[in-house]
Amino acid sequence: MEVFDVIVIGSGPGGYVTAIRAAQLGFKTAVVEKDQVGGRCLNYACIPAKAVLRVADVASEIREAGEFGITVNEPTIDFGAVMERRNKVVKSLTGGVSGLFKKNSVELIEGSGSLRGEGRVKVGGDTYEARFIVLATGSVKRPIPGTEFGGRVVGTEEAWALSELPRTLAVIGSGASGSEIASAYARLGVKVQLFEALDRLLPSEDADISKLAERGFKQQGIDVHTGTLVKDLKTGENSVTFTYGEASGEAGYVVIAAGRGPDIEGLGLDTAGVALDERGLIQVDGRMRTSAAGIYAIGDLVPGPALAHKASDEGVIAVEDAAGFTTHPISYIDIPRATFCTPNVASFGLTEEQARAEGYDVVVGKVPYGAVGAGTVYGDRQGLVKIIGDERFGELLGAHIIGAKATELIQELVNAKLLEGGYPEVARIVHGHPTLSEAVMEAARAVDGWLIHG
Ligand SMILES: Cc1cc2nc3c(=O)[nH]c(=O)nc-3n(C[C@H](O)[C@H](O)[C@H](O)COP(=O)(O)OP(=O)(O)OC[C@H]3O[C@@H](n4cnc5c(N)ncnc54)[C@H](O)[C@@H]3O)c2cc1C
Repeated sequence: MEVFDVIVIGSGPGGYVTAIRAAQLGFKTAVVEKDQVGGRCLNYACIPAKAVLRVADVASEIREAGEFGITVNEPTIDFGAVMERRNKVVKSLTGGVSGLFKKNSVELIEGSGSLRGEGRVKVGGDTYEARFIVLATGSVKRPIPGTEFGGRVVGTEEAWALSELPRTLAVIGSGASGSEIASAYARLGVKVQLFEALDRLLPSEDADISKLAERGFKQQGIDVHTGTLVKDLKTGENSVTFTYGEASGEAGYVVIAAGRGPDIEGLGLDTAGVALDERGLIQVDGRMRTSAAGIYAIGDLVPGPALAHKASDEGVIAVEDAAGFTTHPISYIDIPRATFCTPNVASFGLTEEQARAEGYDVVVGKVPYGAVGAGTVYGDRQGLVKIIGDERFGELLGAHIIGAKATELIQELVNAKLLEGGYPEVARIVHGHPTLSEAVMEAARAVDGWLIHG
């Protein structure tokens, strides 16, 4: 029986980062993977999504070229070529992970891993042993009640791997994934309907952001239905029929983008004594330790936002704890959340509503991109930076950005908070000119009561 210090099950952004960090710490490390190196994130989810969204962004820029004095025809989408590029991007990044395994002497064991108790992991006919095991098997799609996947009713991963560009598409769920799918396909020329059961788009974002996102989506021709339940899905050979409210609809594909659950089937959690919480996720402490000694769990298997960067960070914490380092629990609320639709959306911390409900001394600064030079220069005056502060200590409670590069701009505020800075500090940091990040500085000044451009 081959013996390792650390066996990681799953090679997504949680598992592969864990394995590399474990190897850096001097652990003899193996990763078990039943499908493709890089996990769902690199192969089917985050990366394919962003590769196709990038194409939609290029198409949008071409369509808007007239505003900049360039005359072009309506772009033609060669969907086969789009998918070819998507696949090339995936291959390049997953190849990079395999290369990192080799460079760090991480052994890849191909097959489905299951726990056998006492530090043992079975893969096919072989059994391995390790002092520490890290579970990083991620999550799988779940249908919403009253629906099931099959035929042309697909999940979000399949939505980024369609074999044809449909004429029509219906998306159920306007969270990050559903909004990305709607925004990409609408700009690739597909007639998109987007359904949300709650009363606004991106319902977990700040209400001001939802409003602007809805405006942006409508400008892209997306038919948005909030407060609407989709029912009676029937998949046929070429389309899916369904009902919503009093109306009926038909689309080339229906994407259910409304939930995922941990991939724990056949993992042998009971055998190893790994307990679940009331939501069916693996119970862990702040160091990612499960209820079974020597077994850690990370990523989409455990509570907290289901995000790739969260999975990676948890993996680092797990193996650093195994190595005897002092670690500290992640502040989940302060992890940046990014939605790569257009308009781009990013946030961290509390929404205004949450901050008020929690009884903070709430102060808010809102600055449109148009208030600073860069918004006008680059052609995005409609973006908005909204910062929520607590007046007592100048604390940054949350920030919400919509508009070009929001997913990049949010990081400054996350860093400021985690380095124990507040909005008065951000307001006084010199920002380059003309940049969109000046809108972040101005929003911080707006919270502090001395907005210059506005
Ligand atoms: C469409 C979509 C888009 C997304 N976009 C983003 C984004 O832009 N940014 C972001 O931060 N997050 C995004 N996410 C979320 C992100 O994909 C997940 O949070 C992330 O993949 C979790 O990483 P993980 O390592 O826990 O698991 P995964 O990436 O799911 O990897 C788990 C791996 O474990 C393997 N595995 C499972 N069981 C076993 C077993 N028994 N034995 C061996 N191997 C096993 C699986 O095959 C898989 O390769 C997106 C999700 C979806 C669905």
